[in-house]
Order: sequence, then structure tokens, then C-alpha cells
Amino acid sequence: MISKELLDLAAELSFNYLNTLDSRGVFPTDAAIRALPKLGGPLPESPSDPSEVLRLMHEAGSPATVAMAGRRYFGFVIGGSLPAALAANWLATAWDQNPGLYVASPAVSVIEEVARDWLLDILGLPPAAEIGFVTGATMANFTCLAAARHALLERAGWDVEAHGLFNAPPITFVTGQEVHASVLKALSLLGLGRERIVRVPVDDQGRIDPDQLPMLDAMTILCIQAGNVNTGAFDPAPELCRVAHDAGAWVHVDGAFGIWLSAVPSRRQHTAGFADADSWSLDAHKWLNVPYDSGIAAVREPRHLRAAMSTSASYLIESDHRDPYMYTPEMSRRARAVDIWAALRSLGRSGVADLVDRNCRQAERFAAGLRRAGFEVLNDVVANQVLVTFGDAESTLATIAAIQREGTLWAGQTVYRGRTALRISVSSWATTDDDIDRSLEAIFRVARRVE
Ligand SMILES: *Cc1c(COP(=O)(O)O)cnc(C)c1O
Repeated sequence: MISKELLDLAAELSFNYLNTLDSRGVFPTDAAIRALPKLGGPLPESPSDPSEVLRLMHEAGSPATVAMAGRRYFGFVIGGSLPAALAANWLATAWDQNPGLYVASPAVSVIEEVARDWLLDILGLPPAAEIGFVTGATMANFTCLAAARHALLERAGWDVEAHGLFNAPPITFVTGQEVHASVLKALSLLGLGRERIVRVPVDDQGRIDPDQLPMLDAMTILCIQAGNVNTGAFDPAPELCRVAHDAGAWVHVDGAFGIWLSAVPSRRQHTAGFADADSWSLDAHKWLNVPYDSGIAAVREPRHLRAAMSTSASYLIESDHRDPYMYTPEMSRRARAVDIWAALRSLGRSGVADLVDRNCRQAERFAAGLRRAGFEVLNDVVANQVLVTFGDAESTLATIAAIQREGTLWAGQTVYRGRTALRISVSSWATTDDDIDRSLEAIFRVARRVE
């Protein structure tokens, strides 16, 4: 029997961790990282008390973590964890459900359906679309593009799941110059080839120029972006979807974080037309602020997703219900839809809109403060991304390194259209306007010193 003391200890240490995050540097100190070997040593020969395991993890591990759950982590596009999602994740871990089959977990199968319907609703996607709950947008891209591969080749009379791609009719993959690396990875995993692609020129924000599209046809997948990973910009979806669908092509949206703007009524001008696509990949662990890992693969016509992902075996008991493994690359996996369900249940429609809108306004606040101080912001801030330079590449890199060492905030670097920049992404429910101001002050202090 598990003891209440052990679970109380986990709660106490977690509470202690989250409530002291704000008083330490965002990136761990060298001393904390040097202490990590305490977690190693030879494999214990015999059992030890679980509470001692937890205490060791907290003492040696917690100080060496990066404060991603804190208020001033602006690296990559990494959200925090909403209270409801974190707590639900704990309970779901206690449940220890394998949600592959309905008969294995009726509860999680039903929760997946509820989470699916709520997601499609809040994102304005077709209500009859189907969703696979995967690890992240990389696997969501993989899963959606497998469905696309199935649909196109089925139309050409080829069963790709049975016969593979040897001698199959060729598929053309068309995308913007600034396609995300995860899409290229998905193409390589799918046998579609990451170098067999046609890249369309983009404008200064990284948006596909529709006038430069090549001829599309029914054997083409056009991949567009909702949220450029550097600028946050949105491809012109209405026009791109119209041209592609007139030609019979499949449109896939890489919308990892940007598609969440669909949940904000006052920002829907950016996401107009994306719902016309055939598949959408996005992350819940980014802007919905659920714990890792959590990605969403949505496909307009469920049968294509099902055909690409399902398999069968004599011992797999299929039911009249929705069997979750039919829609994901995995069979066994964690019940990640529970976290999504809890996030949506606790925030509601207006709470999700507020979260996304607040982060966008905070990005604007960042950009305005930086511009006022005389720094060059490279992008039009339309979502949560801000790119700022501190002079030439060398000065910018020196300033970024000093900002990261100083510890008030953490953001990474990028090179955008040849310019080295600090890349700020505001993606957490926990971030306040005061955190933006404190971060700006820290950036100004550090930049003056580096100068
Ligand atoms: C983050 C991101 C991905 C990859 O997502 P993972 O969750 O890291 O797999 C893909 N596309 C875009 C635009 C992203 O921002």
C-alpha cells in the first residue's frame, strides 16, 4: 500500500519548488549542475525508502532544473503548466491508464473524445475532424503527413500502408522557405524525403508569397504555417487553401503555437482561412500550458488518419467505441488528453482566449520597451514572438550570453534573414506584465554593461 506521507511529500516538494522558482536565476548555477552526479554512482544493490529517493531528487535535481515553469522563461516556445493541468496530470499518473484501447480504459477513451470535441470547437476546426493525441508537434506533423500520404496515394490507386513507397506514384511536397525543421524530420521518417521538396519564396516576415506558388496538382501536399517559429507570422491561408484545393492538393498546417490565436476573437484575422486546410498539427504543451509531452494531430477526414495509423492483431479487442490507438503512431502511451481536458475545463473558452491574448500583449509590451530604448526589433509582433538585435552579430551574441548569465530571464538566440537576434517567446500563464518590465530592466542593464 502506498503511504499518504509519500504522496504528501511529493506535493510538499513540488509546492516548495514552484514557489521558490521566482527567487533564483532562470538558468541553474554551475554549482547546481556540478552537483548532479549525486544522482548517479553505482546502481543500488538493494531497495531504499521511496521518500529518500524523492528527497535526493529534490535536493540534487531541483536546483539544476531550468525554471521553465516559472514566470520569466522566454526560450524557444515553451509554455508553463496550468495549475489544473499539473494537478490532473498527477491524478492521471496515479490512475496509470493505458489508453490504447477502449476496453483498456473506458474513462480515458471518453476523456479523449471530450478533449477532441472541445479542441475542435475552441480552435474553430471542422467539428467532424479526428484527433490523435501525440507527443508534440513533430509527431503531429508526422501523423498528419502520414494521413496525407495515404489520401493522395489511395486516390492514385496505391495502397501505401501495404506496399510502401517503392514504385509508388511520386508525391510533391511544397512549402515555404522557412519550413520548420520538424516538418523536414517528418518527411524523412515518412520516406517522402526531406530534400525532395519545392520551397516557395517568402516575404520579410517569413510568409509564403502566393504569387510564387508552383503549379499544384492532386499529388501535391502544400504545407503552410500558422506561426513562423521566428517572427510568429501567419501564411496567407485563405488564398493558399483556395489555390491548392482548386488543384486537388492536400493542405497541411504546421500550427504548433500560432493556431492558438484562433481561440482569441480579437485576433482571428491572423488565423482566417486556416480551418479550410485538410490537417493541422499543434502543441498543447506550448500555449495551452499543459505538462510535457502533449501534441495534437488533427485531420479533416477521420478515415485517412485511421487508415494511416491503425493496425490489428488477434488479441486487440476492438469495440464499438473509439479506440484511441487507431489515431496515433503508438499503441501504449500515457493518458495525455487528461491534461488537455483539465486545462480546457478549468479555463473555459474565455480563459484560453485571455491566456493567449495576454501573452500576445506582453510580447507587444516587450517590443515597445525595447524600441523605446533604441534597440531594433526585427519582426512585426503579431503573436508572442519578438526578435531583437543589439548591434552586429558579435555584440548581440555577447549581450545574449550576458542576459542568460544574469538570470532574471532566459531567452535564446536565432539568426533571422542574416541578422543575429535574441528570440523572445512569451508563452506562459504565469507571466505578468511586471515580469516583462523586470525583464526589460535586466536587458537594458546588461546591454549597457556589455557595450
Ligand atoms: C515547436 C514547433 C514544432 C515542433 O514541436 P515539438 O512539440 O517540439 O515537437 C513544429 N513547428 C513549429 C512551428 C513549432 O513552433
